[in-house]
Amino acid sequence: MDATAASAASPDPNSGPDLSLGRDPAVHADVGAGPEPRSSGRAQNAAGFETIAIHAGQEPDPTTGAVVPPLHLASTYAQDGVGGLRGGFEYSRSSNPTRAVLETCLTALEGGRAALAMSSGMAATDTVLRAVCRPGDHIVIPADAYGGTYRLVARVLSQWNVEHTAVDLADAEATRAAIRPGVTRLVWCETPTNPMLTIADIGALATLAHDAGALLAVDNTFASPYLQQPLSLGADVVVHSTTKYLGGHSDIVGGAIITADPDLAERLRFLQNAAGAVPGPFDCWLLLRGIRTLPVRMDRHCANARHVATHLAAHPAVETVRYPGMPGHPGYPVAVKQMRDFGGMVSFTLSGGHAAALELCARTRLFTLAESLGGVESLIEHPASMTHASVADSPLAVPANLVRLSVGIENADDLADDLRQALDGLSTAFPSKAADTTTASRAGSS
Ligand SMILES: *Cc1c(COP(=O)(O)O)cnc(C)c1O
Repeated sequence: MDATAASAASPDPNSGPDLSLGRDPAVHADVGAGPEPRSSGRAQNAAGFETIAIHAGQEPDPTTGAVVPPLHLASTYAQDGVGGLRGGFEYSRSSNPTRAVLETCLTALEGGRAALAMSSGMAATDTVLRAVCRPGDHIVIPADAYGGTYRLVARVLSQWNVEHTAVDLADAEATRAAIRPGVTRLVWCETPTNPMLTIADIGALATLAHDAGALLAVDNTFASPYLQQPLSLGADVVVHSTTKYLGGHSDIVGGAIITADPDLAERLRFLQNAAGAVPGPFDCWLLLRGIRTLPVRMDRHCANARHVATHLAAHPAVETVRYPGMPGHPGYPVAVKQMRDFGGMVSFTLSGGHAAALELCARTRLFTLAESLGGVESLIEHPASMTHASVADSPLAVPANLVRLSVGIENADDLADDLRQALDGLSTAFPSKAADTTTASRAGSS
């Protein structure tokens, strides 16, 4: 799935690879203006991912030559006579030029035909669920779905009589059994999952879903389009919390939906405007800025996560490490098949149980104790009491001794050292030996 080869051959993007969208003013003009699907950014002779991230939809401004797309704050647009829209823009909930540039770029990054920028990942998820499901329908969700997705399905959609079954999507037989042909409208997939980093086979799930007349949606937040492109593997629609890796700097909340299905694109576009959960122009602008460095950030996230996972696995206070790039991970073969690299998220359990997990989260100095992920800075959190508190008493509850890391792009040795000092000093490293190891090592730390 690596499509980088074309970029080196054509340093001048105007004469080289096809960035499709945004180059042709006619195409650009209708971006965001209606349900018309846009052409794919991955036609033959398509540009490499790194080139797309910087150039798709982002020609120098025709009036000033500015190399960065302008930030259009206007909420409304002058018309040349009634209905005479210049460039298709009418009112910024329906479409906005800065958002249109972002949507063009997102379309190209996932190899889709249309993208919708949304105000949050949950708004994106909600829009897909409501575009696809009607009362009486059934959906299948991952047994360790993002907590907010589970909450939306279990506590909001259920009120509109949409039923769900939570299943381990890595288990093909269990998934097949959970799908009700003709009633299941959607299979919702996350891979890698949050926080257990389970891997599901996107191509196999697409076949299962399609055979039963259902669509496959993939929440691609943890991988980002740089590492994994679900549409090319058979998925019908991709969702992102752009708050995470796509934004990359922990300074916006946003979401995105990308699809290659023109009919679905039309229904999604209608809901985006009808319900109105759109991002503001400045958030779109910041997201475009983040996306330009996505490939280089992801390369470093992956390298650092690998380094950290290796060090954690060697530490006696750590029970198990969950990282899809480790050959011992049950999803490793599938991850190798469908991902470019294994991502920046690492989860692990502590031999010392719940107390050790809480203590560790308070002992790191470089890893900041906070929710969220995907930013340049490293974060640590305790899913059972933080991000996954909303699934505490449900079938989706996570182990109490689990700690999740979002490994940032700092110096890899600094990150490994920080975790080592935090683990070395645990007073509760081992359930039985806790009392004796403790006093000695705690005495040395401040
Ligand atoms: C954060 C997250 C979401 C929700 O996104 P928001 O931008 O916080 O609304 C959905 N799915 C996954 C996998 C996430 O990590």
